[in-house]
Amino acid sequence: MISRFARKGVKYKEGSSIPPSNMTKEDVEKYARKVAGITKFATGDDPTEVVAQLGGRCKILDMSDWVEETGSIYVHREYDFDIILPRYTSPLRDRFTICHELGHFFLHSNMGEVPIVAYRQGSTRIEWEANWFAASLLMPKVEFLAALKETDDLTRIAAKFKVSCEAARVRKEAIG
Ligand SMILES: [Zn+2]
Repeated sequence: MISRFARKGVKYKEGSSIPPSNMTKEDVEKYARKVAGITKFATGDDPTEVVAQLGGRCKILDMSDWVEETGSIYVHREYDFDIILPRYTSPLRDRFTICHELGHFFLHSNMGEVPIVAYRQGSTRIEWEANWFAASLLMPKVEFLAALKETDDLTRIAAKFKVSCEAARVRKEAIG
C-alpha cells in the first residue's frame, strides 16, 4: 500500500480480504438506527458531524493522489479513521458516500478494532452491506414509508432526506 493516507506499521485488511458482517438487511437497519440514536443523527443532519464524533476525518482527494490506488476509507485503529472523498462530486452524493464509509467502520472494522482499507464501490458483499447501512442511516425505514404515503414523487422524497433521486429510488424498491 503506497497511499499517503495509510499509517506506517498498521496492518490493514484490504478490499476483498475484509470479511463481511453477514448481517441481514433488517439487522443492518437496526444497527444504523442504534448508531443514529447514539450519535443523535436525525434525518437531514450532516454526517460529517457523526464522523467527527467517532474520531474520524473527511479528506478530499487531490489530483496527485490519483496516481495511486487510493482507498475510500482507512480505519487505522479504534475511533481513528479517514474517509477519502473525490473532489468533484455533489454534496448529496458525498452524504451517501460518507454514510457508506461509516458502514465499513461499524460493520467491517468493528469501530476500529480491525484496521481496514476499503476501496471504491465494487459489488462484493461488504459493499452491499455498507450501502444498506448508508440507506438506513439517511432514510430510516419508518420515516421513508411515511413519506411514501404522503407522496410518490421521488424528487420530493429525495429532497426531504437530502439524498439523490437515485438513492431514493433504490430505497423505495428495497422497502416500498
Ligand atoms: Zn465501500
